[in-house]
Amino acid sequence: MTTWFNETLYAGFRQSHEIKKVLFEGKSKYQKVKVFESGRFGRMLALDGVVQCTEGDEFVYHEMLTHLPILAHGKVESVLIVGGGDGGILEEVLKHKSVKRVTMVEIDGMVIEVAKKYLPKICGKAFSDKRTNLIVGDGAAYVASTKDRYDLVIVDRPDPVGPATVLFSKAFYDNCRRVMKPGAILVAQNGVPHMQGPELTDAIRLFQKIWAHSGTYLAVVPTYVCGFMSLTWACDRDITDVDPRDIFARFDRAKLPALRYYNPEIHFGAFALPNFVARLLPAPKATKTVAAKQKKR
Ligand code: SAM
Repeated sequence: MTTWFNETLYAGFRQSHEIKKVLFEGKSKYQKVKVFESGRFGRMLALDGVVQCTEGDEFVYHEMLTHLPILAHGKVESVLIVGGGDGGILEEVLKHKSVKRVTMVEIDGMVIEVAKKYLPKICGKAFSDKRTNLIVGDGAAYVASTKDRYDLVIVDRPDPVGPATVLFSKAFYDNCRRVMKPGAILVAQNGVPHMQGPELTDAIRLFQKIWAHSGTYLAVVPTYVCGFMSLTWACDRDITDVDPRDIFARFDRAKLPALRYYNPEIHFGAFALPNFVARLLPAPKATKTVAAKQKKR
Protein backbone atom coordinates (compact mmCIF):
# COMPACT_ATOMS: atom_id res chain seq x y z
CA MET A 1 0.00 0.00 0.00
CA THR A 2 1.53 3.34 -1.02
CA THR A 3 1.95 5.91 1.74
CA TRP A 4 2.13 9.63 0.99
CA PHE A 5 3.73 12.70 2.55
CA ASN A 6 1.18 15.51 2.24
CA GLU A 7 2.42 19.08 2.44
CA THR A 8 -0.40 21.54 3.12
CA LEU A 9 1.65 24.74 3.36
CA TYR A 10 -1.06 26.71 1.55
CA ALA A 11 -4.76 26.64 2.48
CA GLY A 12 -6.86 24.85 -0.11
CA PHE A 13 -3.85 23.23 -1.77
CA ARG A 14 -1.54 20.29 -1.04
CA GLN A 15 1.35 18.50 -2.70
CA SER A 16 1.96 14.81 -2.06
CA HIS A 17 5.16 12.77 -2.32
CA GLU A 18 5.23 9.00 -2.21
CA ILE A 19 7.12 7.77 0.87
CA LYS A 20 9.30 4.83 -0.20
CA LYS A 21 11.08 4.64 3.18
CA VAL A 22 11.21 6.80 6.31
CA LEU A 23 14.85 7.27 7.29
CA PHE A 24 14.40 9.57 10.30
CA GLU A 25 11.44 11.01 12.16
CA GLY A 26 11.88 13.05 15.35
CA LYS A 27 10.93 16.20 17.22
CA SER A 28 13.48 18.73 18.38
CA LYS A 29 12.89 21.64 20.75
CA TYR A 30 11.88 23.65 17.67
CA GLN A 31 10.14 21.47 15.13
CA LYS A 32 9.25 18.06 13.74
CA VAL A 33 12.12 16.72 11.61
CA LYS A 34 11.59 14.03 8.97
CA VAL A 35 13.80 12.53 6.27
CA PHE A 36 12.42 9.99 3.81
CA GLU A 37 13.14 8.39 0.45
CA SER A 38 10.56 9.94 -1.87
CA GLY A 39 9.09 8.51 -5.06
CA ARG A 40 10.57 11.05 -7.51
CA PHE A 41 13.02 13.42 -5.76
CA GLY A 42 15.32 11.13 -3.79
CA ARG A 43 15.81 11.85 -0.12
CA MET A 44 13.68 14.71 1.23
CA LEU A 45 13.96 16.82 4.41
CA ALA A 46 10.71 18.14 5.87
CA LEU A 47 10.36 20.42 8.89
CA ASP A 48 6.95 20.68 10.54
CA GLY A 49 5.45 19.00 7.48
CA VAL A 50 6.98 21.45 4.96
CA VAL A 51 9.45 20.36 2.25
CA GLN A 52 12.82 22.06 2.88
CA CYS A 53 15.07 20.40 0.34
CA THR A 54 15.35 17.26 -1.75
CA GLU A 55 18.26 15.47 -3.38
CA GLY A 56 16.44 15.82 -6.69
CA ASP A 57 16.20 19.62 -6.94
CA GLU A 58 18.18 21.23 -4.09
CA PHE A 59 20.86 22.32 -6.58
CA VAL A 60 18.58 25.01 -8.02
CA TYR A 61 17.99 26.93 -4.81
CA HIS A 62 21.42 26.31 -3.27
CA GLU A 63 23.33 27.37 -6.41
CA MET A 64 21.21 30.49 -6.98
CA LEU A 65 21.38 31.71 -3.36
CA THR A 66 25.19 31.45 -3.35
CA HIS A 67 26.96 31.76 -6.72
CA LEU A 68 24.84 34.68 -7.92
CA PRO A 69 25.60 37.02 -4.97
CA ILE A 70 29.22 35.82 -4.67
CA LEU A 71 29.91 36.62 -8.34
CA ALA A 72 27.84 39.82 -8.22
CA HIS A 73 30.05 40.99 -5.32
CA GLY A 74 33.34 39.89 -6.88
CA LYS A 75 35.51 39.68 -3.73
CA VAL A 76 33.65 37.62 -1.11
CA GLU A 77 35.97 36.29 1.60
CA SER A 78 33.72 36.09 4.69
CA VAL A 79 30.20 34.65 4.58
CA LEU A 80 27.46 34.38 7.21
CA ILE A 81 24.72 31.78 6.70
CA VAL A 82 21.66 32.11 8.94
CA GLY A 83 19.70 28.85 9.04
CA GLY A 84 20.75 26.41 6.33
CA GLY A 85 20.79 23.35 8.59
CA ASP A 86 20.80 20.91 5.67
CA GLY A 87 24.26 22.16 4.68
CA GLY A 88 23.37 22.76 1.02
CA ILE A 89 24.16 26.47 1.05
CA LEU A 90 27.38 25.85 3.01
CA GLU A 91 28.51 23.25 0.49
CA GLU A 92 28.01 25.61 -2.45
CA VAL A 93 29.73 28.59 -0.75
CA LEU A 94 32.79 26.46 0.01
CA LYS A 95 33.25 25.76 -3.73
CA HIS A 96 34.70 29.30 -3.97
CA LYS A 97 38.44 29.34 -3.19
CA SER A 98 38.15 33.10 -2.50
CA VAL A 99 36.03 32.31 0.57
CA LYS A 100 38.26 32.21 3.63
CA ARG A 101 35.66 31.75 6.37
CA VAL A 102 31.98 30.76 6.58
CA THR A 103 30.03 31.13 9.81
CA MET A 104 26.77 29.20 9.86
CA VAL A 105 24.23 29.86 12.63
CA GLU A 106 21.53 27.16 12.71
CA ILE A 107 19.11 27.06 15.64
CA ASP A 108 18.41 23.32 15.54
CA GLY A 109 21.28 20.90 16.06
CA MET A 110 18.98 17.99 15.16
CA VAL A 111 18.71 19.26 11.57
CA ILE A 112 22.50 19.37 11.25
CA GLU A 113 22.95 15.85 12.66
CA VAL A 114 20.20 14.48 10.41
CA ALA A 115 21.73 16.18 7.35
CA LYS A 116 25.19 14.77 8.10
CA LYS A 117 23.78 11.25 8.51
CA TYR A 118 21.06 11.05 5.84
CA LEU A 119 21.74 13.86 3.33
CA PRO A 120 25.44 13.54 2.38
CA LYS A 121 24.49 14.16 -1.28
CA ILE A 122 23.40 17.67 -0.19
CA CYS A 123 25.91 18.70 2.50
CA GLY A 124 28.91 16.66 1.31
CA LYS A 125 31.82 17.27 3.67
CA ALA A 126 30.91 20.96 4.20
CA PHE A 127 30.40 20.70 7.94
CA SER A 128 33.97 19.43 8.46
CA ASP A 129 35.66 21.93 6.11
CA LYS A 130 38.38 23.85 7.99
CA ARG A 131 36.84 27.16 6.82
CA THR A 132 33.49 26.31 8.45
CA ASN A 133 32.60 27.94 11.78
CA LEU A 134 29.37 26.20 12.88
CA ILE A 135 27.24 27.74 15.64
CA VAL A 136 24.06 26.10 16.94
CA GLY A 137 21.95 29.08 17.99
CA ASP A 138 19.44 31.76 17.01
CA GLY A 139 20.59 33.70 13.97
CA ALA A 140 18.78 36.83 15.13
CA ALA A 141 20.59 36.80 18.46
CA TYR A 142 23.91 36.19 16.66
CA VAL A 143 23.66 39.21 14.34
CA ALA A 144 22.58 41.34 17.30
CA SER A 145 25.77 40.58 19.23
CA THR A 146 28.64 39.39 17.02
CA LYS A 147 31.71 41.53 16.45
CA ASP A 148 32.46 39.70 13.18
CA ARG A 149 31.84 41.40 9.83
CA TYR A 150 30.84 39.80 6.53
CA ASP A 151 30.96 40.36 2.75
CA LEU A 152 27.84 38.25 2.24
CA VAL A 153 24.90 37.33 4.50
CA ILE A 154 22.74 34.45 3.27
CA VAL A 155 19.44 33.99 5.10
CA ASP A 156 18.54 30.39 4.31
CA ARG A 157 15.35 30.44 6.35
CA PRO A 158 12.16 28.39 6.20
CA ASP A 159 8.76 30.05 5.97
CA PRO A 160 7.96 32.70 8.62
CA VAL A 161 6.75 30.28 11.28
CA GLY A 162 8.02 29.31 14.73
CA PRO A 163 11.67 30.20 15.42
CA ALA A 164 12.03 31.57 11.87
CA THR A 165 9.48 34.36 12.36
CA VAL A 166 12.18 36.63 13.81
CA LEU A 167 14.20 36.21 10.58
CA PHE A 168 11.60 38.29 8.75
CA SER A 169 11.71 41.25 11.17
CA LYS A 170 13.17 44.75 10.68
CA ALA A 171 15.27 44.35 13.84
CA PHE A 172 16.90 41.27 12.30
CA TYR A 173 17.57 43.06 9.00
CA ASP A 174 18.96 46.11 10.87
CA ASN A 175 21.40 43.81 12.67
CA CYS A 176 22.30 42.06 9.42
CA ARG A 177 23.21 45.49 8.05
CA ARG A 178 25.30 46.07 11.20
CA VAL A 179 27.47 43.01 10.53
CA MET A 180 27.90 43.68 6.81
CA LYS A 181 31.11 45.25 5.47
CA PRO A 182 30.85 48.16 2.99
CA GLY A 183 29.56 46.82 -0.35
CA ALA A 184 28.33 43.60 1.29
CA ILE A 185 25.23 41.84 -0.04
CA LEU A 186 22.34 40.22 1.84
CA VAL A 187 20.26 37.52 0.11
CA ALA A 188 17.27 35.67 1.52
CA GLN A 189 14.77 32.98 0.64
CA ASN A 190 11.42 34.75 0.19
CA GLY A 191 8.79 32.21 -0.79
CA VAL A 192 6.75 31.52 -3.92
CA PRO A 193 5.21 34.78 -5.20
CA HIS A 194 2.14 33.00 -6.60
CA MET A 195 1.23 31.90 -3.07
CA GLN A 196 3.24 34.17 -0.75
CA GLY A 197 3.25 37.51 -2.58
CA PRO A 198 2.73 39.68 0.54
CA GLU A 199 5.86 38.15 2.13
CA LEU A 200 7.89 39.42 -0.84
CA THR A 201 6.31 42.87 -0.67
CA ASP A 202 6.90 43.07 3.10
CA ALA A 203 10.56 42.05 2.82
CA ILE A 204 11.37 44.60 0.11
CA ARG A 205 9.49 47.33 1.98
CA LEU A 206 11.69 46.66 5.04
CA PHE A 207 14.87 46.39 2.89
CA GLN A 208 14.10 49.82 1.41
CA LYS A 209 14.21 51.35 4.91
CA ILE A 210 17.73 49.95 5.48
CA TRP A 211 19.62 49.65 2.16
CA ALA A 212 19.88 51.91 -0.89
CA HIS A 213 19.07 49.11 -3.31
CA SER A 214 17.03 45.91 -3.11
CA GLY A 215 15.00 43.62 -5.29
CA THR A 216 14.36 40.01 -6.14
CA TYR A 217 15.47 37.39 -8.63
CA LEU A 218 13.76 34.13 -9.48
CA ALA A 219 14.45 30.42 -9.80
CA VAL A 220 12.19 27.46 -10.37
CA VAL A 221 12.46 24.76 -7.71
CA PRO A 222 10.03 21.92 -8.58
CA THR A 223 9.28 20.95 -4.98
CA TYR A 224 8.70 24.58 -3.87
CA VAL A 225 5.39 24.26 -5.65
CA CYS A 226 3.29 26.85 -7.55
CA GLY A 227 5.90 28.48 -9.71
CA PHE A 228 8.85 30.79 -9.25
CA MET A 229 10.79 30.96 -5.98
CA SER A 230 11.72 34.53 -5.04
CA LEU A 231 15.21 35.19 -3.74
CA THR A 232 15.53 38.71 -2.39
CA TRP A 233 18.67 40.85 -2.20
CA ALA A 234 19.73 44.08 -0.52
CA CYS A 235 22.92 46.11 -0.88
CA ASP A 236 24.15 49.69 -0.85
CA ARG A 237 24.84 49.41 -4.58
CA ASP A 238 22.69 48.06 -7.38
CA ILE A 239 23.90 44.49 -7.89
CA THR A 240 21.96 44.22 -11.14
CA ASP A 241 24.09 47.03 -12.60
CA VAL A 242 27.18 44.96 -13.36
CA ASP A 243 28.89 44.66 -16.75
CA PRO A 244 28.06 41.14 -18.01
CA ARG A 245 31.70 40.77 -19.06
CA ASP A 246 32.69 41.07 -15.39
CA ILE A 247 30.34 38.26 -14.35
CA PHE A 248 31.60 36.00 -17.14
CA ALA A 249 35.21 36.77 -16.17
CA ARG A 250 34.56 36.14 -12.46
CA PHE A 251 32.75 32.89 -13.28
CA ASP A 252 35.70 31.70 -15.38
CA ARG A 253 38.22 32.72 -12.69
CA ALA A 254 36.24 30.92 -9.96
CA LYS A 255 36.82 27.59 -11.76
CA LEU A 256 33.80 26.07 -10.02
CA PRO A 257 33.09 22.35 -10.32
CA ALA A 258 30.29 21.64 -12.83
CA LEU A 259 27.11 23.31 -11.63
CA ARG A 260 23.63 22.10 -12.57
CA TYR A 261 21.69 25.36 -12.59
CA TYR A 262 23.69 28.60 -12.20
CA ASN A 263 25.55 30.10 -15.15
CA PRO A 264 26.26 33.73 -16.16
CA GLU A 265 23.31 33.81 -18.56
CA ILE A 266 20.90 32.70 -15.82
CA HIS A 267 22.60 35.27 -13.53
CA PHE A 268 21.10 38.05 -15.63
CA GLY A 269 17.96 36.23 -16.74
CA ALA A 270 16.92 35.62 -13.11
CA PHE A 271 16.38 39.36 -12.56
CA ALA A 272 13.81 39.56 -15.38
CA LEU A 273 10.48 39.63 -13.56
CA PRO A 274 7.02 38.76 -14.90
CA ASN A 275 4.57 41.63 -14.37
CA PHE A 276 2.73 39.99 -11.45
CA VAL A 277 6.02 39.71 -9.52
CA ALA A 278 7.27 43.19 -10.44
CA ARG A 279 3.97 44.58 -9.19
CA LEU A 280 4.60 43.00 -5.78
CA LEU A 281 7.72 45.17 -5.34
CA PRO A 282 7.02 48.51 -3.68
CA ALA A 283 7.84 51.34 -6.10
CA PRO A 284 10.04 53.08 -6.93
CA LYS A 285 13.41 52.01 -5.50
CA ALA A 286 13.14 48.26 -5.45
CA THR A 287 11.71 47.73 -8.90
CA LYS A 288 14.93 46.51 -10.45
CA THR A 289 13.28 45.28 -13.61
CA VAL A 290 14.54 45.84 -17.14
CA ALA A 291 11.31 47.70 -17.93
CA ALA A 292 11.87 50.10 -15.01
CA LYS A 293 15.40 50.85 -16.19
CA GLN A 294 14.26 51.38 -19.78
CA LYS A 295 11.69 53.92 -18.50
CA LYS A 296 14.62 55.90 -17.04
CA ARG A 297 16.50 56.05 -20.38
N1 SAM B 1 16.20 25.59 1.97
C1 SAM B 1 15.01 25.68 2.78
C2 SAM B 1 14.01 26.64 2.21
O1 SAM B 1 14.23 27.14 1.13
O2 SAM B 1 12.98 26.87 2.86
C3 SAM B 1 15.37 26.10 4.16
C4 SAM B 1 16.67 25.56 4.57
S1 SAM B 1 16.97 25.21 6.14
C5 SAM B 1 16.27 23.65 6.37
C6 SAM B 1 16.06 26.33 7.15
C7 SAM B 1 16.67 26.27 8.52
O3 SAM B 1 16.44 27.46 9.26
C8 SAM B 1 16.14 25.12 9.40
O4 SAM B 1 17.15 24.17 9.59
C9 SAM B 1 15.72 25.81 10.71
O5 SAM B 1 16.01 25.03 11.86
C10 SAM B 1 16.55 27.09 10.65
N2 SAM B 1 16.06 28.20 11.47
C11 SAM B 1 14.79 28.56 11.71
N3 SAM B 1 14.75 29.65 12.53
C12 SAM B 1 16.06 29.97 12.81
C13 SAM B 1 16.69 30.98 13.59
N4 SAM B 1 15.96 31.91 14.26
N5 SAM B 1 18.05 31.02 13.64
C14 SAM B 1 18.78 30.09 12.96
N6 SAM B 1 18.25 29.09 12.21
C15 SAM B 1 16.90 29.05 12.14
